[in-house]
Amino acid sequence: MQELLQYHVLKKENLDGLVTRLAKLQPLAAPVAKGDGNFAFASVHEAGEMTLDYVPTILPPKKYFLPPRETLLHFDVRRGMHVETVGDNQPLTLFGVHTCDIAGIQCLNMVFSERPRDYNYLLRKRLITVIGLECNGYCDANASCALVGASLPNGGYDLFLTDLGDRFLVHVNTQAGDDIVDTIKVFAPAAAGDLEALAALRERKRGTFRNEVALDPRKLPELFSRSLESPVWHDLDGRCLACGNCTLVCPTCYCFDVRDEFRIDLATGRRIRAWESCQSEPFALVAGGENFRKTRGSRQRHRYFRKFAYPFGKYHRFFCTGCGRCTRACMAGIKLKETLTALAWGQGG
Ligand code: SF4
Ligand code: SF4
Repeated sequence: MQELLQYHVLKKENLDGLVTRLAKLQPLAAPVAKGDGNFAFASVHEAGEMTLDYVPTILPPKKYFLPPRETLLHFDVRRGMHVETVGDNQPLTLFGVHTCDIAGIQCLNMVFSERPRDYNYLLRKRLITVIGLECNGYCDANASCALVGASLPNGGYDLFLTDLGDRFLVHVNTQAGDDIVDTIKVFAPAAAGDLEALAALRERKRGTFRNEVALDPRKLPELFSRSLESPVWHDLDGRCLACGNCTLVCPTCYCFDVRDEFRIDLATGRRIRAWESCQSEPFALVAGGENFRKTRGSRQRHRYFRKFAYPFGKYHRFFCTGCGRCTRACMAGIKLKETLTALAWGQGG
């Protein structure tokens, strides 16, 4: 009974009513078709503007939590060390976020909650409402969400919608989600039959979503512990173009650069932070000119270890959500699933 109270039903004919009301409460972003099979999270005002049947967007919703470029503070050196911090945080509702991208947000939450905390990130996160949407089937062959345990919902959202054919079942996970259900009168109480339909759908999903790589995910940390000198990295050294696309589109990559930009008066300016990629050659350059990851293969190795090895030891989860974006974005045709398979077989990629 208690579980039933956490669920509501949204008839599909009421979807537009929900979306238009959400957009009136605060800015709303959802997946929007951009042509050529591409999608992007963008501002919407009604359900007709968005597409709920989509492959992962070009950039993940991380762009709202950690903007590609943000001003941290303004400074004026004529007045000594005078600085004014910038807080440009706005409320936002994200609609239709898949489980892989919710997992990506959970990873970022863990990283930026560590001390010293990143208040720019955390303040922004507090203002963002996440409404998830279940994938009932694979978005495409590049996804590996089952391998990393991201094909089923696992918290990290305020509301979560599952398409049950003629209706959505809506799971309420937070007070913010409950407030939406209370405020926007388009929901009906769920019945026991709705939960049975959900259980049947999840059972079907367990048959559909299987480890996309012939690997036991529990053995991934051990696989990486013996892969430091794998020929796979030499193979990637010859193929990778070091463009950085794979990291920029990744929902869990969070590296950034901080730099000061002076205005023409050479006295005032601003400090910005912008996304940075471990695939660029100067990324691991240190004082004295030493570069710890000179080759493209060593930088690719670092990227894979940052997804499957290091965070597993620190946070007990993979920092790959199986979204497949790195594969779709790679101009050299480097495929994450192929690389993992090659590592498992001890081969070149
Ligand atoms: S490594 Fe690739 S598949 Fe994994 S989360 Fe990042 S972009 Fe997605
Ligand atoms: S997207 Fe492909 S070519 Fe570009 S840095 Fe990543 S692996 Fe290398």
